[in-house]
Amino acid sequence: MTIKPKTGNNNLPKVFIKTFGCQMNKLDSELIFGSLVKKGYMLVSDEEIADVILFNTCSVRQKAEDKVYSQLGRLKKRKEERPDLIIGVMGCMAQNEGEKILERMPHVSLVCGTRMFLKLPSFLEEINRSNRQILAINEDVTVDYDRLVTQRLNRFSAFVSIMRGCDNYCSYCIVPYVRGREFSRSVEDIVNEVKGLVDDGCKEITLLGQNVNSYGKGLHSNSTLATLLQKLDTVDGIERIRFVTSHPKDMSKEILEAVGELRSVCEHLHMPAQSGSDRILQKMRRFYTSSQYRELIDMARDLVPDITIASDFIVGFPGESDDDFNDTVTLMKEVRYQNCFTFKYSPRTGTYAEKFVDDVTEEIKKKRNHILLELQSEISTKMNKEKIGKSVEVLVEGTSKTDKSKLTGRTRQNQIVVFHSPERFFPEHSISDSRAGDPSSFIGKLVNVTINDATDLTLYGCVRE
Ligand code: SF4
Repeated sequence: MTIKPKTGNNNLPKVFIKTFGCQMNKLDSELIFGSLVKKGYMLVSDEEIADVILFNTCSVRQKAEDKVYSQLGRLKKRKEERPDLIIGVMGCMAQNEGEKILERMPHVSLVCGTRMFLKLPSFLEEINRSNRQILAINEDVTVDYDRLVTQRLNRFSAFVSIMRGCDNYCSYCIVPYVRGREFSRSVEDIVNEVKGLVDDGCKEITLLGQNVNSYGKGLHSNSTLATLLQKLDTVDGIERIRFVTSHPKDMSKEILEAVGELRSVCEHLHMPAQSGSDRILQKMRRFYTSSQYRELIDMARDLVPDITIASDFIVGFPGESDDDFNDTVTLMKEVRYQNCFTFKYSPRTGTYAEKFVDDVTEEIKKKRNHILLELQSEISTKMNKEKIGKSVEVLVEGTSKTDKSKLTGRTRQNQIVVFHSPERFFPEHSISDSRAGDPSSFIGKLVNVTINDATDLTLYGCVRE
């Protein structure tokens, strides 16, 4: 360790990490943090006192990249004042933009791609020693990591990467170009990591991958996502298992049966449809039709009656007519999603769809986006109100942002619940447990909450007396 702290009271060099984008990036930031802690760094939440500032970036939209460039520009003056400050860009944008970042922002010391981030400690040492810029975007390296399970921001819930990369090349998406080809981790590695997490107090894991349904491809075994779920379900102490994201073309009856039958696997599916129009799905290169998608939803509801389903939709894809859009509206109404993320299409340099004419006007994209948001809000409100009077199991995540006397958490079906803290209903608890008066003492626990009100995004209730 050669980097010396320049500010603050602690003797450890301080690193600030800002994460943009998806859950995979959040996990990568946690892994980066773990690898740095092993080398004697400490994480700080205040950028001003950091000796190393890292941006873990997203490339899915041009806007996300523009935002990082703007933040890097803002740091130029600070670097002039503190020449020993190390500024690094990591993740998808680093992979996508590469050398261009160093050319546009010469005060940046490090550009580190999606498969090189675990070498970060040695890159930082090298920069400190030689004061030279480093560009590390080798595409052939596989990400192999030894996770430091104790270095997690959330004690009771964790992401676990089961596969990386994507072979699908949906026509609008940059991910396969920046994350590389699909690569599945071995069952043994994943199970060992999950056991370590559970030993460290974790109750809920979310298995991550760009396309988790194709887990096992390339492994010299018959492992699938379903067999992996079966194995993980036997780990003592694990309460909840989730997995994202599911590609409809790789969804199987076997996976849905696992969701229905296994104790710890949560009854929730995030399976993006993207469009309800077969013509647009074909142009998007999604490799399923809207009827095949509907059949999967029917199968899921047959096998897992209380399942909730979430989706993503893109509006204004090149050539999307009123009829195509109406097919999406019909699909949304028929499926009755729990929630949906909707996006206005914007062309991405380097993707197949870049060659299509972006012919849907911004005004129409906005209008269609608004229609979907309104429709989804109506559907979610109705579905949530159906929960009133029912009891749901909640894993407590923290205190409510708007009212610190209340707690918040999620159901197995991934619905957000805000409720009165349990000690209001179990006053005797405060006598036996000195921390019971503090609602935060319930964080990480499973409680049963009776729902008494609901909006489109939130269920409200109180702990069952
Ligand atoms: S499945 Fe399609 S949308 Fe998802 S990461 Fe792969 S290419 Fe992108």
